[in-house]
Amino acid sequence: MERKKYSHQQQAEADKSSRLNRRQFLKIGSAGAVIGAMEMVNAPAKLAADAANEAIQKDVVENHDRFPVKISSDYKPFPQKNTVFSQAVGGTHKTLGPLARTFERYECDDSKPGFTRIDWALHHSTWSIEHSATPGSKFGTPNVGWYGWKQKTKKERESFLDLDYVYDEKYQFKSKKEAADSIKRAARLFGAELVGITHRNKKWDYSEHYNPMTHEEISWDKFPFEPKSVIVLAVEMDYESIATAPSYTLEGAIGEGYSTMAVVAYQLSIFLKCLGYKAVAAGNDLGLSVPYAIQAGLGEGGRNGLLITYKYGPRVRLCKIYTELDFVEYDKPITFGAWSFCERCQRCADACPANAISKDLKPSMAPTHDNPEKWFNNPGVDKWYLDAKKCFEYWCKANNSCGTCIASCPYNKPDFWHHRMIDKFNAILPGPVHSFMREMDIVFGYGNTFDEKAVKKFWASNGRKYLGF
Ligand code: SF4
Ligand code: SF4
Repeated sequence: MERKKYSHQQQAEADKSSRLNRRQFLKIGSAGAVIGAMEMVNAPAKLAADAANEAIQKDVVENHDRFPVKISSDYKPFPQKNTVFSQAVGGTHKTLGPLARTFERYECDDSKPGFTRIDWALHHSTWSIEHSATPGSKFGTPNVGWYGWKQKTKKERESFLDLDYVYDEKYQFKSKKEAADSIKRAARLFGAELVGITHRNKKWDYSEHYNPMTHEEISWDKFPFEPKSVIVLAVEMDYESIATAPSYTLEGAIGEGYSTMAVVAYQLSIFLKCLGYKAVAAGNDLGLSVPYAIQAGLGEGGRNGLLITYKYGPRVRLCKIYTELDFVEYDKPITFGAWSFCERCQRCADACPANAISKDLKPSMAPTHDNPEKWFNNPGVDKWYLDAKKCFEYWCKANNSCGTCIASCPYNKPDFWHHRMIDKFNAILPGPVHSFMREMDIVFGYGNTFDEKAVKKFWASNGRKYLGF
């Protein structure tokens, strides 16, 4: 696929904003010095990795007091009914409706790696918890199963085995920090990799909820309490499974991510309820997970429309807890250069089989794609707007969730310290260096998609140990 050519002025502006300044240069020096020192004393690999990661992270990650992306003053929240999933699964859109009914059809080919019966079994088994515990939540259906809104009192418990009720006395945390630390530690135990806590922001909430299964539009007045805080959780998706994108094997990581979301978010909502605070667990429902995650300090928004986290890139799934608890320490948004790297990288846009990802050099305040239907984009935020309709159409054609824009992203690599170092130097050395690093990533064989070898690698038993000896 052709990469977009930029105008002379666009290129000059990008180069100007990319010049190294003295501060950035010193950053490289300090990170490099720590790494060099560790090498010289031949420190054990794990220690060296941790020290290098810490040094790089300290230099590269910046905290912000305000949301780090421009929002227009007339930005308005978005009704959930306007999402592609709502229109397609709800059947209200004349082409997406019939197409949605063909998604997840039984279609296997045992001669095609990634689409065999075994791959199909992996796909279905990983989704099983999500489908049973929170049916329809992957389409954003609100108020279902473990993502239910009911706030039972102790008296309303169904039996002593029913643990989903709000304890009648509120636990008083000694400090906001104690509250945040307790929530984050519990979330890690339940299976979250990243946890951020922020204030509720109506900008990111759907202006009105929508149940695509029943076509019901639901107002926030029906919500059982006034949420004050939103806890955002990220669960990691399996690297080797994502590397098989697009395939049923890839769907294993996506389904596993969704099922883990349900477990982690539900358990954390019960933790808060046990402490006497009303709480509702959510997946894709209630509000937009990516801006909430940015606000909660979990990462930056990428060209591919996904959250780019420092540690896993876009290889995470996001879920949320809305709670009335507000005596809690909030996290600040962070940046680490991902947005600037996206300007030159564009690997996701080049790899996208649906041509749904913008190839504009710079983000914009409104969609620039050529799809005349733009009802599914909500303008007013400075970002790269995805043509979500094209993306969904491809999912239905390919019969899986694609994930090519995750697999191709240089930030998605496993957390080996030397990868982190290169990625972080990318953040410090902006501009033309990004283009070079993008090409090097390709040369080293990262980010391949439509790769049958990746499917074989996923299933290979070589070197793996399953028994405890
Ligand atoms: S999931 Fe696939 S089709 Fe959709 S934007 Fe990503 S790469 Fe493109
Ligand atoms: S692939 Fe490149 S352009 Fe796309 S989100 Fe990742 S870093 Fe950004």
